[in-house]
Amino acid sequence: MLSLLVCALLLSPFFGVLAASVSEEQSEAPGIRSLFKSPLNIDKRSPGQLIKSCTVPGTVALTFDDGPYYYIYDLVKMLDAAGAKATFFFNGKNNFCIYDEDNVKRVRFAYNRGHQVASHTWAHMNLTSATISNDKVHDEMWKLDLALTRITGADPAFMRPPYGAYNQTVLNISKDRGQAVVLWDLDSEDTSKTPSVQNSINIYNKKIKENPLPNGRILTLNHETKRKSSSRIHASFFFDDMFQVMPAVLQSLKKAGYRMVTVAECLGKRPYRSVKAPEARTDKWKC
Ligand SMILES: [Zn+2]
Repeated sequence: MLSLLVCALLLSPFFGVLAASVSEEQSEAPGIRSLFKSPLNIDKRSPGQLIKSCTVPGTVALTFDDGPYYYIYDLVKMLDAAGAKATFFFNGKNNFCIYDEDNVKRVRFAYNRGHQVASHTWAHMNLTSATISNDKVHDEMWKLDLALTRITGADPAFMRPPYGAYNQTVLNISKDRGQAVVLWDLDSEDTSKTPSVQNSINIYNKKIKENPLPNGRILTLNHETKRKSSSRIHASFFFDDMFQVMPAVLQSLKKAGYRMVTVAECLGKRPYRSVKAPEARTDKWKC
């Protein structure tokens, strides 16, 4: 609940803009009407630019933010054993450096087993911050894409803004860069201030019940890491949480008949802008 509240607060700048343009448009004010017709208006964006749910019936996209982190090996093995492919929205320099040898191995481990690698930007900054420049927003996206391209050879076609916070500038820049912005329609609440295994399982089960097959579709938000409230310290107990929640969730999804696929597959789109061989480490692989 708290994490939903945080998301709502973080998303409020966008919804504020959208709500303002709709209500002002109805008022027929000439200045605002031209704003409404402007190519900057969200309703005029190309479809697929902002993704809040899957489109392919019968699919669920399990996504994990904020890695790469310690748990990825066991998590990937667990997903593979359940016949699931997930999507990892990685950071470059969050609590770690993606170029560290351990993290390079973690990213490649997930990628080589067919899981999708995607961008959660470089340093997990709020891209809608009043003090962030457009150049900096671009830089936060570009640096992570470069890292993933060097490490895996794959240049990600999808990005998820930190905190789910986006505005028109974020949408415009990601569009110019050929990336879609991905949110979610199920928050597992694993980063709420009081995360609970049972709460996360209940959230999934409720969603599955409300979205029966054949038409059901689910796009999830989970975290590969866990922070203790607002501090940047990873909570050691999360290992246990993750490995209690996911087996139950995988079983429920399987029982309901869901296909557990990547974000790209749940949308019928390509996961990467380009794919080539991974690169060998050079002196430039630094955070
Ligand atoms: Zn995040």
